[in-house]
Amino acid sequence: MSRDEPEKKTVIITGGARGIGRALCLAFAGPDTEIFFNYSSSGPEAEETGRLVDAAGGHSTGVCADVADEDAMSAFFKRINDETGRIDVLVNNAGITRDSLVMRMKASDWDAVMDVNLKGAFICTKLASRAMIRRRWGRIINITSVAGVAGNPGQANYSAAKAGLIGLTKSVARELASRNITVNAIAPGYIDTGMTARIDAGKKADILANIPLGRPGAPDDVAGLAFFLASDCAAYITGQVVHVNGGMYI
Ligand code: NDP
Repeated sequence: MSRDEPEKKTVIITGGARGIGRALCLAFAGPDTEIFFNYSSSGPEAEETGRLVDAAGGHSTGVCADVADEDAMSAFFKRINDETGRIDVLVNNAGITRDSLVMRMKASDWDAVMDVNLKGAFICTKLASRAMIRRRWGRIINITSVAGVAGNPGQANYSAAKAGLIGLTKSVARELASRNITVNAIAPGYIDTGMTARIDAGKKADILANIPLGRPGAPDDVAGLAFFLASDCAAYITGQVVHVNGGMYI
């Protein structure tokens, strides 16, 4: 968005270089939105996201910046504010896994997962909420996980971070409701992305056997719901956790 196009909405997506984050960028891409996304290291994938957004008639800016680094995120949000003067939608999507059974889990793996999946969302929510409150409108969408609701062996750190994200969602929804800002969480089940590509074939077959719809989810299955939650159709929905999982958790 340029300064002479004040009608464009500003949409921020964390972790937009690949997977669900890229699908989110594409779901929001269009002439009426200016998209900003960050990523941690995947420069070529981020460029591809930018190309795809362009091809969809939109415009995006991708920045390599750690979502858990408060100074880096402050600089990212300041740039967005300087360039557009508004923040309409924030999707806290960046996430990592560092799986192992709890008795073998390193504290550093616990910390890394908490930092990216939970602290990163807190930092971005704090930074975005100021701009949203100013304009009395906003949509914050947190990508949690079925693991944050049901738990998952080997993912104590990830499940705890994603459960924490649900608590963050509900508290911030209550804090910001009077300013016409909604805050919701999406809990995907098993979605076909780089994150799940490393699961071994036997485990994948077990997971699929427990999905009533009989297939893994696609990133677009998640992105479509985020687009709906950011729309006027979802104006009366806040503080909710919406599941996108093919029925694997009912
Ligand atoms: P991917 O691993 O495919 O992509 C993750 C994205 O997050 C990448 O763009 C990555 O950047 C970015 N990222 C990771 N760490 C940081 C960081 N410190 N700072 C900024 N960006 C970062 O994951 P998915 O697309 O599968 O997952 C997206 C979200 O959905 C995550 O929160 C995940 O937990 C959640 N989720 C995923 C499910 C699944 O089955 N795939 C199920 C349930 C929830 P880079 O490309 O540079 O590495």
